[in-house]
Amino acid sequence: MDNSVDKCITWGIFARKCVVFCRIVLKKAGWGVEMLFVLNSRKLFVVLALLCALQLTLTVYLYFSSSGNVTSLLDYTVVIDAGHGGVDAGVTGVNGTKESHLNLVYSKQLGQLFSQCGFNVVYTRTDENGLYGLPTQGFKMRDMNKRMEIINESEADIVISVHMNKYSSDYRTGAQVFYQKGSENGQLLAGSIQQYVNRLNSRNLESLSGDYFITRESSCVAVIVECGFLSNASEEEKLNSTQHQQQLTNAIFCGVMMYLYSL
Ligand SMILES: [Zn+2]
Repeated sequence: MDNSVDKCITWGIFARKCVVFCRIVLKKAGWGVEMLFVLNSRKLFVVLALLCALQLTLTVYLYFSSSGNVTSLLDYTVVIDAGHGGVDAGVTGVNGTKESHLNLVYSKQLGQLFSQCGFNVVYTRTDENGLYGLPTQGFKMRDMNKRMEIINESEADIVISVHMNKYSSDYRTGAQVFYQKGSENGQLLAGSIQQYVNRLNSRNLESLSGDYFITRESSCVAVIVECGFLSNASEEEKLNSTQHQQQLTNAIFCGVMMYLYSL
């Protein structure tokens, strides 16, 4: 990613209102600091402006003091894949929430965080419709193939597929991340996101491997984030709250950032 960097120290602050990343980069040519800020409060706008100015100054310094080519994180393309859509509503909550709708809500918020940081963001869908054309026989396969076409044509670096979970019994709760079995980077990315979403889970869950169409067929690292269980009434309510939507998308974003910085 950044071959002029000899050593870097990274940390992230994850709070309800803001996400702050700071990376101190130690190089042969000197040192610099790269920072990324995502703030979700207007009150913090002044702080954001000041910090952005600092970030810009230091990033410019870092760029010009570098002997090699610096590849910025901002060159990355992230595909946000809101699962299901149209006649395929996915799972339905105990109180009637449609998975396909919530997937779209979370996907848009997550995409916004990446856009704010300058990433190239590609969505597989931005409305409630599916990607299959007419809902005739074979629509599910056409829908999945269309998603793959978007992912592979975008030359994505990372794919995050957003879903909601369901279980036959109502006791299961929590967000969980899935990756393609055998994918080293998939495991790293899923583990990093899991670490952050666990802060919102009532107990620590582990990221799990499996064999899924989207993670197997994507030409780049891909994970599925199951944001929570619609089969649990209180989790269904939580998943519908704007506060939780903000917290969970922040957590997913943090997990991806920490993964990218660890490469
Ligand atoms: Zn789903």
